[in-house]
Amino acid sequence: MFIEPSLNSRRQTDRKGQIEVICGSMFSGKTEELIRRLNRARLARLKVEIFKPSVDKRYHDLDVVSHNENSIRSTPVNFAGDILLLAGDCDVVGIDEAQFFDEEIVRVGQLLANKGKRVIMAGLDMDFEGKPFEPMPRLMAIAEYVTKVRAICMKCGDLAAFSLRLSEAKEKVVLGEKESYEARCRRCFFEDKK
Ligand SMILES: [Zn+2]
Repeated sequence: MFIEPSLNSRRQTDRKGQIEVICGSMFSGKTEELIRRLNRARLARLKVEIFKPSVDKRYHDLDVVSHNENSIRSTPVNFAGDILLLAGDCDVVGIDEAQFFDEEIVRVGQLLANKGKRVIMAGLDMDFEGKPFEPMPRLMAIAEYVTKVRAICMKCGDLAAFSLRLSEAKEKVVLGEKESYEARCRRCFFEDKK
């Protein structure tokens, strides 16, 4: 489990920022881990803002909602650059579904961290073909801390790092949850991939 090196709970103008990335397959608990860290930051009396790309309309518009329905209010944005304008004077910036932003999110993450903010981004590290899901690899490269969370393979019960798409759709982004995807370990993913 990720333990914060320091919560920097006393507000200070010379605070150093940092970037944390939480990545993994679908059903791996990325959003739950993001919410856990943000709730702890709130307990430390830090000002927290949460953003997600407006492309993700599966659930309620204003919530980062994870599958266990432990939710937290978030602001949907159309472009990564909007986060710079909206983050204001907050201490901690949470970003969910970071894989749906374009390359601009890398610059935005650096700028926010360089202003002294703690930036925590959660996202899918691989697409349904098992290929790196940009811009996550770039975010992982610039982060101080990377946490890879794992799901459970729905076929064999081992740890899973891959998201198997059950439909024949070929687009990179097909939103949907249990009806469209299952978690798979490496062996079961490459056996079952269409
Ligand atoms: Zn398996």
